[in-house]
Amino acid sequence: MSECLAPKSLAHCNCTYTACDKRGNCCKCVAFHKDRGEFPACFFSAAAERTYDRSLACLVRDRGVL
Ligand code: SF4
Repeated sequence: MSECLAPKSLAHCNCTYTACDKRGNCCKCVAFHKDRGEFPACFFSAAAERTYDRSLACLVRDRGVL
């Protein structure tokens, strides 16, 4: 398995939910939202990210797909 990049990932994390213990740890963040049928913060625009709605419906709206 490759090296965990968690300590380096915080610089790339756009999540504004600062109380979350998964910020900057992409592996845990993706697994957490995947288990809920959701997407991590980095899939969303800044405006959509701040709603904390990580659903597919929100992502589709955010991307202008529908
Ligand atoms: S996207 Fe979700 S799991 Fe990831 S850091 Fe933000 S609140 Fe935590």
